[in-house]
Amino acid sequence: MLRRQSARESAARTYARALPIVPVRARGLTIEGADGRRYLDCLSGAGTLALGHNHPVVLEAIRKVLDSGAPLHILDLATPVKDAFTTELFRTLPSGLADHARVQFCGPAGTDAVEAALKLVRTATGRSGILAFTGAYHGMTAGALEASGGAADVRVTRLPYPQDYRCPFGVGGEHGAELAARWTESVLDDPKSGVPLPAGMILEPVQGEGGVNPAPDAWLRRMRQITEARSIPLIADEVQTGVGRTGRFWAVEHSGVVPDVMVLSKAIGGSLPLAVVVYRDDLDVWQPGAHAGTFRGNQLAMAAGTATLAYVRENRLAERAEALGAHVLTQLRSLATEFPCIGDVRGRGLMIGIELVDPEAAPEPAPLDSPTPAPGGGGPHPAAPALAAAVQRECLRRGLIVELGGRHASVVRLLPPLTISDEQTNAVLDRLADAVAAVAR
Ligand code: PMP
Repeated sequence: MLRRQSARESAARTYARALPIVPVRARGLTIEGADGRRYLDCLSGAGTLALGHNHPVVLEAIRKVLDSGAPLHILDLATPVKDAFTTELFRTLPSGLADHARVQFCGPAGTDAVEAALKLVRTATGRSGILAFTGAYHGMTAGALEASGGAADVRVTRLPYPQDYRCPFGVGGEHGAELAARWTESVLDDPKSGVPLPAGMILEPVQGEGGVNPAPDAWLRRMRQITEARSIPLIADEVQTGVGRTGRFWAVEHSGVVPDVMVLSKAIGGSLPLAVVVYRDDLDVWQPGAHAGTFRGNQLAMAAGTATLAYVRENRLAERAEALGAHVLTQLRSLATEFPCIGDVRGRGLMIGIELVDPEAAPEPAPLDSPTPAPGGGGPHPAAPALAAAVQRECLRRGLIVELGGRHASVVRLLPPLTISDEQTNAVLDRLADAVAAVAR
């Protein structure tokens, strides 16, 4: 079946290459393949399945709409289903934003909401430039691509994202984050930089596709001060970090930063496609019809999303993600002491990355000059994408599905559902440790 389908599909597909399985049934963390094998799914639809596969409350919400005779596709008209979704969404939003926010339904993917956010701030400010960050991922449509990591565009100014490991300045920690913040200030304030006042700044509070890079809270607060002082709208892309994933309902809540615009997708649709932009009401300068799109009224996705948001909130799954994530980080860090090919273990809540390196190769210098050289002189060892791919393969052999990410695809990523049990968490850790042991020399 897989071979026949592969022959017909585009060469661009990636997951199917690394994960040659044919899922036929799924529940919670578990996927069952056509071959009868069971897998623990720590990819979760690229972080979409906050409640795992086919959670009963999600299925019930979908069935209720199906059985009610309500329209399934209704453009952007008001419906009771949509009203319930908006009410629940606003209940969860950071209070500083919820009190005076508007929502724009976009659709159906995260990248559509990113486009809408970029367009909104450009319209509201009358300016065109966008500040974005190294290692960012915002989607696959033109504007979102411009703002993502490797792309070059005249309207997007790319700034260093603060990372502890592979710190662009080679120092890491608070000092590295402060250097990154000062870099941003100097780009904005030094006329020699040639960067005009931008329309907005877009950032991920924890970079996902970029290799699981949590931004330090102090740096996020600095970004808030810098943008506020210059009237630059701050866009938080919470497509992947939202709905409890990082240990708060929204990842910006760790720092207390209230962005002007939030881009939301993935988990808000409870496994069905849904994407929205939420923004301060004074940015709502759009004329009627200024933003459109056919698929902005997916009632099943809204119902599944309402059920998911309410379940995460009522069952305090963000807190659970925080506690479980801390446990997983501790276990993985202890694994890293046994295996020098694990260069770094990092994450926030249940968004976790394990970076594979070549410990025998010479450490690499930091890409940007630092006024303070790295302690000990050397930076991290070079990334080891082949080793990461081997870990992924060995995980699959042991019935564990993991994702790769990072600039060099050298980071093994874990994005399990927030409903994962303690026993399942330990099973994931055991299989991962076995897989690393199988490939490490
Ligand atoms: N922003 C972030 C932070 C993402 O992680 C992603 C998807 N991985 C997107 C935007 C794009 O979402 P989509 O793939 O649904 O277009």
